[in-house]
Amino acid sequence: MSDGMSTRAVHDPEQRKEPGDPVAPPITQSSTFFTDAKGTSPVRYTREGNNPAQERVERILARLEGAEDAVVVGSGMAAIALSVLSVTRHGDGVVASRDLYGNTRQFFQDELPRRGVDVTLVDAGDPDAWKQAVGPRTRALYLELPTNPTLRVPDPGPVVRLGRERGIPVLADVTFASPVNLRPAELGVNGSIHSATKYLGGHSDLVAGVVSGSREVVEGVRRGLRLYGPSLDPHALWMLERSLRTLTLRVERQNRNALHLARVLEGSSGVARVVHPGLESHPDHARARELLDGYGGMMGLVLEGGGPAADRFMEEVRLALTATSLGGVETLVSQPRHTSHRHVPPEERAALGIPDGFVRISVGVEDAEDLEEDFLAALERVLTEA
Ligand SMILES: *Cc1c(COP(=O)(O)O)cnc(C)c1O
Repeated sequence: MSDGMSTRAVHDPEQRKEPGDPVAPPITQSSTFFTDAKGTSPVRYTREGNNPAQERVERILARLEGAEDAVVVGSGMAAIALSVLSVTRHGDGVVASRDLYGNTRQFFQDELPRRGVDVTLVDAGDPDAWKQAVGPRTRALYLELPTNPTLRVPDPGPVVRLGRERGIPVLADVTFASPVNLRPAELGVNGSIHSATKYLGGHSDLVAGVVSGSREVVEGVRRGLRLYGPSLDPHALWMLERSLRTLTLRVERQNRNALHLARVLEGSSGVARVVHPGLESHPDHARARELLDGYGGMMGLVLEGGGPAADRFMEEVRLALTATSLGGVETLVSQPRHTSHRHVPPEERAALGIPDGFVRISVGVEDAEDLEEDFLAALERVLTEA
C-alpha cells in the first residue's frame, strides 16, 4: 500500500473499519471512561492525554513526522515548556538559539532561571558557539527552524551531531515548516515541537501544541501533561483531527502562493526587500532548498518608507487581514515591531534583520492572483499618498 504524506494525513491504519462504524472520526466528549472493576481500560481519563481522539491524533502526527511517538497538549507554549522541563532539573543548563518566539525567549530568560536552570543563547548558525556553550550539565539544545520573522534556516546538522556526541537531546520548534515541509526526526532531532494553533490547526480556530520524536522525549512530556495538566479538550482535539486531513493540501497551496507573491513583490516599487527562503536573495536559500520540501507560507516585506509606510500598508490591504498568528487559510499581515518584538529596542531589532518597515505575511490559501492584486494595490496607495 502506498504511504505518502497525504495518505498518512487522511488514513489511520489502526482505525476500525466495520459496517456501521462512522467514516468521520467522532468527538468523544467525555472526561472519563468505563473501566473494569480493577480500573483497567484502554482509555481512562482525558486530562491524562487519554481519550480516543487524542490517541488517534497522536498516531497520525507520529506517522506524519516519521517519529516514534507524539503527544498533543493544550498549546504550543505548553509543548515548549513541558519538553524543556521534562529534560531539565535544578542546576542543569539549556543552550538555545538566540532567534526565539517572543514567549519562548521569556520562558527561557525569566522562567527557567527561577527554577535553577541556566540558559545560554547562541547564534544558531555558528557550530562553534554551540560547542563552546555546552557544559557538563547541559541537558537540552534548542532551536527554531525556520526562525520568526526573518525566516533564517540554520543547519541542524552540527547541533544534532553535538547532541549525539554528548548525549544531550535536541529540541526544535518547527512550527513555521509544518511536517509537510520538514520532518526533523528524520534528521536526528529528538523532539519536534509545533504550535498546532498554526499550520496543523490551519483555520485560526483552535489552540494546541504537539511534541513528536523519540519515545523518551515524548514520554517525558506525557508525564508533564499528567502532572501540570495542560490537556486539550475533546472538541479541540476533534477539530485538530479534522484539520490534519487537509494539511498537505493547505500547506502545498500556501507554499505556492507565498513563492509566487515573494517573486512578484521583490523589485516592486516601494519595496526595499522581500524575505522568503524560496528567493535566491535569501541568505539561506541554498540550505532551504536542500533541507525543506517546500519553502513555507511565511514571508517578510520590508517597505522603503519604514514604519509609517508599514502602518499605511496595513491599513490599505483589503483582502489580507491584520492579525497576529499564522498558518491559517486566510492571509494575515502583522508588524513584528508592534507584536512579537515590541519589547526589543529599534536598533536591536534592525540588527536582528527586522527594520521598522518590516511587515510579516502569513500567506493563506486564497487565489494567488487576488492576493497579488491586493498587495500591489496597497503598495500603490502607500506610494501615492507618501
Ligand atoms: C505561535 C508560536 C508558538 C506558541 O504557540 P501557542 O499555540 O500560541 O502557544 C511557539 N512557537 C512558534 C514558532 C509560534 O509561531
